[in-house]
Amino acid sequence: MTATQIETQTETVATLGEFALIQRFFAPVPGPLPPGVAVGLGDDAAVLSIPRTQQLVTSTDTLVEGVHFTADTDPYLLGQKALCVNISDLAAMAAQPRWYLLSLSLPPSTPVAWVDALLSGLNQAAQQPTGTVVLVGGNTSTTAVGALSITITLLGLVGKDRAVTRSGAQVGDHILVTGTIGDAALGWSVQQGGLQELDEESRAALQRRHQLPTPPIELAIALQAAALSRSAIDISDGLIADLRHVCQASRVGAQLFAERVPLSALARSQVAQHGTKLLTRLLTGGEDYELLFTVAATAVAAVMVLAHTAGIPVTDIGLITAGSDLLVTYQGQPMALENGGWDHFSAS
Ligand SMILES: [Mg+2]
Repeated sequence: MTATQIETQTETVATLGEFALIQRFFAPVPGPLPPGVAVGLGDDAAVLSIPRTQQLVTSTDTLVEGVHFTADTDPYLLGQKALCVNISDLAAMAAQPRWYLLSLSLPPSTPVAWVDALLSGLNQAAQQPTGTVVLVGGNTSTTAVGALSITITLLGLVGKDRAVTRSGAQVGDHILVTGTIGDAALGWSVQQGGLQELDEESRAALQRRHQLPTPPIELAIALQAAALSRSAIDISDGLIADLRHVCQASRVGAQLFAERVPLSALARSQVAQHGTKLLTRLLTGGEDYELLFTVAATAVAAVMVLAHTAGIPVTDIGLITAGSDLLVTYQGQPMALENGGWDHFSAS
C-alpha cells in the first residue's frame, strides 16, 4: 500500500484507541510457540530460553520521522528497514537474530492502515536466511507532541565467547568491506529532491538502497564460524567513521585506499562527474549497512572463497597500521575529510 492510498483510509490510531491497537498488533499468534520462546506475546513479559553454550546478543535502534525517514516513506519499506538496521548490528557481531521487541510512538492522526503496512514490512524482514526473527513483545503509545518513531530491540544468539567485536583488529590486518558504499547516501539525496539529472530508474534504485538495507548476515556468521574475522562493524555512520570506531576500539591505526572502495556503477558515474569531493561524501555518508571487517593477511584468500560461495562481493580496501592515525589516500595522495561521518543531529 502506498502512502497516498493510506491517506484515503479514515481509521486512525486515535479512533481505534491504544488498547485495541495493542490487541490488534501484539496479540499472541495461535499455534505452538516459536523455538526458544517459553512465554511469548500476551503476557507481561517474554521468557526466552538461551542454550547453555550460547550468549545473548542485543541491540536497539530508533527511527524517527524527519530525522531518519520522511513522512511520505512507504511504511512497508520502513518496517523492513527498522528490523534490518538492527539485524545489521547483530551481523557485525556474527550473531544469529532470533527475537525482537517493538515500541511504536504514534501521533493520533496516524492511519491504522499505515501501522498495518509497517507490521507487514516487519514480518517480511523477519524472514531471514538464518531463520525467522520472532516478535515477542511490544507496545504503542500515542504522542500528541512528538514525531512518529519506531524502536526495535533485537535479541540474538552467538556461541559462547565467539562474538566478533570492534576491538580485535591487529596491525597488518587487511580491511575488507562487503557490497558497495555510498548508494544509501545518494538515495537520501534523491529523497530530499536532489540528483534531478538522473533518470527515474536510477533515482529509484538509489532510493531503494537507502530504504532497504540488506545486511550480509549469513556471510558474517560464516566468517566467524571459519574463525576468519578478527574485528567487525556494520557501516551505519559512514565507512570512515566506522573504520575509526574499529581503530579506536582496537587501539590501532589504518590506511584506507579510497580508490579501492567498491562503488556501484551509478555512484562511480557520479564520482566521475563531481570528483573526489563527492567520493568523500560517499565515504562519510552513512547508512550503507554493509559489513566492515578485518582479517589476517594470510586469511584474505579464504575470505574471498567464502564470499564467492555466499554470492556477496567483498573488497580489500586497506590495512591496519601501528599507532592511532587513520590515513585515507586517493591514488597515493592524502584525502581531506571535512566530516568524519554521518551526523544524525545535522540531518534534519
Ligand atoms: Mg552498528
